[in-house]
Amino acid sequence: MNGYMGEILRIDLTHGKIMTIPTRDYEQWVGGHGMGSAIFFDLVKDKAIDGFDPANVITIMTSPLCGTLVSAGGGRTEVQGIGVQSYPIGWFTRSNFGGRFSTMLKQAGWDGIVIEGRADRPVWIDIRNHTVHIRECRSLSLWGTDTRTCQERIWEYVCGKGTFGDWLEPDGEAGGKTTQRPAVLTIGPAGENLSRMACLMHDAGNSSGQGGFGAVWGSKNLKAISVIGTGDIEIHNPKALLKARLRQTKTYAFDLDNRKRKPLATVFDAFPRPVTLFGSFPGSQRPTEGHRPQACVGCHSGCRGRYESGVGNEAHCAGTAFYSDASSLDIQRRSSDLLNRYGVNAFEAWRGLEYLRDLNKAGVLGPGEEIDFPLSFKNYGSYEFIEQFVKMLAYRNDGRGHTSQAGYDLGEGFVRAAERWGRLEGEKGDLKTGLLNFPYWGFPNHYDPRTELEWGYGSILGDRDINEHGFNTLFWDVLISRFTGTQPTATAEEVVNIYTDKMIPFQGDPLMMDYGTENMYSEHMAKLVAWHRHYTRFWKQTALLCDWRWPDFINPYAPRKVGSSGKSEQRFFKAVTGRRVTYRDGIELGRKIWNLDQAIWTLQGRHRDMVHFADYIYQVPYNGPSLMTSRKDGAWEYISLSGRCIDKGHFEEFKTRFYQLEGWNPETGYPTRSTLQSLNLGNVADELEHHGKLGTG
Ligand code: SF4
Repeated sequence: MNGYMGEILRIDLTHGKIMTIPTRDYEQWVGGHGMGSAIFFDLVKDKAIDGFDPANVITIMTSPLCGTLVSAGGGRTEVQGIGVQSYPIGWFTRSNFGGRFSTMLKQAGWDGIVIEGRADRPVWIDIRNHTVHIRECRSLSLWGTDTRTCQERIWEYVCGKGTFGDWLEPDGEAGGKTTQRPAVLTIGPAGENLSRMACLMHDAGNSSGQGGFGAVWGSKNLKAISVIGTGDIEIHNPKALLKARLRQTKTYAFDLDNRKRKPLATVFDAFPRPVTLFGSFPGSQRPTEGHRPQACVGCHSGCRGRYESGVGNEAHCAGTAFYSDASSLDIQRRSSDLLNRYGVNAFEAWRGLEYLRDLNKAGVLGPGEEIDFPLSFKNYGSYEFIEQFVKMLAYRNDGRGHTSQAGYDLGEGFVRAAERWGRLEGEKGDLKTGLLNFPYWGFPNHYDPRTELEWGYGSILGDRDINEHGFNTLFWDVLISRFTGTQPTATAEEVVNIYTDKMIPFQGDPLMMDYGTENMYSEHMAKLVAWHRHYTRFWKQTALLCDWRWPDFINPYAPRKVGSSGKSEQRFFKAVTGRRVTYRDGIELGRKIWNLDQAIWTLQGRHRDMVHFADYIYQVPYNGPSLMTSRKDGAWEYISLSGRCIDKGHFEEFKTRFYQLEGWNPETGYPTRSTLQSLNLGNVADELEHHGKLGTG
């Protein structure tokens, strides 16, 4: 099997056992999310357990494309298991991070890692090719360290005082040589203290942020996994891979010397998806010191930065926008580092800080106030303020080493904290007024369900803030054009034609791209959401193409602005594996994986009656900017979606349409036997039936 290493590492922390799973047992699921869901389904007998239960299984999976030259497809890693961040239930969920971990894992000979059980004392896992040890944290004093110190101590333990470029024989003379350091995935103090917003961190700025997996690791007494390998990854057709890569770079990649979107003057201007937001917009401060792009393994794009001073290195998207009220750019950049060092999820911290600020303005929260909060907002904007705040989130105390009930509550996540503070009750509850801007499953508002429909609907029909930017690119392109007085990359009609041409098997239905109020609950919109779920589950979360570059719909560098999706995905996949998985096959596999996930959520207790947004989404009009495509009087245009709500009754009708489209029971949302069997998931239907949760129909 080209692209695969042949084995998955399975570690039982409770019994200290190290085992293997042959990758071929899960080959039909290809890799990444597909394999992770299937392994979870097989190993976790009671799917209704809490995320902190030792029986929770965490999978950390690569794909056959990892470690290769596939454009923006070689460097991601998928993490899954029962999370602890979502509210009111910790759903089976996922996260994903970049860097060099998946490459190193494959070079060590593994396609993934499965973690089960709970160690009786803090441990870390030391992987050097096929030599694997579960080691106690005590000897290196790892427990209690921040994420960078932990990685540095492990590097020194494995490599001695050497650095990149020095030759190393990580598991002795027989195992081969490398000039690399181990790739380490670790938790910081936030994970150790079971903060539900704790991340897994790798290198300076790669975080697996959503889901609270840092806290799950903390509950398992797992501090870090270190991996170093010296092996090779077999490519089916290296020549074809190189050709595909060169074509992708030449025809579709961002060109620094020929920028198509000059107003978007980001540090590295990675249009169409700028992700380093330090000084992103005209008129704002930009780092002036020396810097260079930084990329995940094999990526042609390099969407993050490394700076001369080392401040804000590898910080990304929300991590760079967090604390945008900082009184200087330097403080903003240092605040990114704080999050990464303490292992805190940037998005939860960002929206949560806005909530606390508003409560403070309302005179409800602060020292000695109704919510007795140890942090004074008099210094809001300063470094001292944000350092204490991040420490509160990580240590669940007052941020200065003293116990604090409010600090402890914050570690439960902002929605649970608000619940503890009695802020969710009654007609003026904070999820009714929208003061607490967390619309889907207790996750912070990323893009608003009232306007960016595929994002909001996809999130509530799934398990988390989807964080998938395929259509969101359009939102930004049009919005920035409007702000800067320039033309969008394409007209609304061009956009609709190019996008919907690529949305197999629903292609040719332009109304899928009509975001107008008349169409927002229609079967066309149901198709858009379904397509997005299916494409993403396979091509981005299983094959592990990076969300920041895929799908490639509209591309200002391409001939006629038509991006490469539909052709490039399958070309890359074939070149690496030799296996013919067409673009359409991938989307169909994504549907299968999405169905398996829906079955797991059903076994966790999901019913259609639970699938609803926070109340403010139905009651309070959206008041931010948003421009998307809509058809009016027979012509396509970009329209403003500001000022609208979701109608609760009509959303219920939308859910019925969506469930029918997916072949699920529309009264319960449960998958049906006929749908599951058509996807070769008869065993999943059996388990649902055994638990009385198989949908009829
Ligand atoms: S686009 Fe950015 S996040 Fe994605 S693979 Fe490339 S460097 Fe990594």
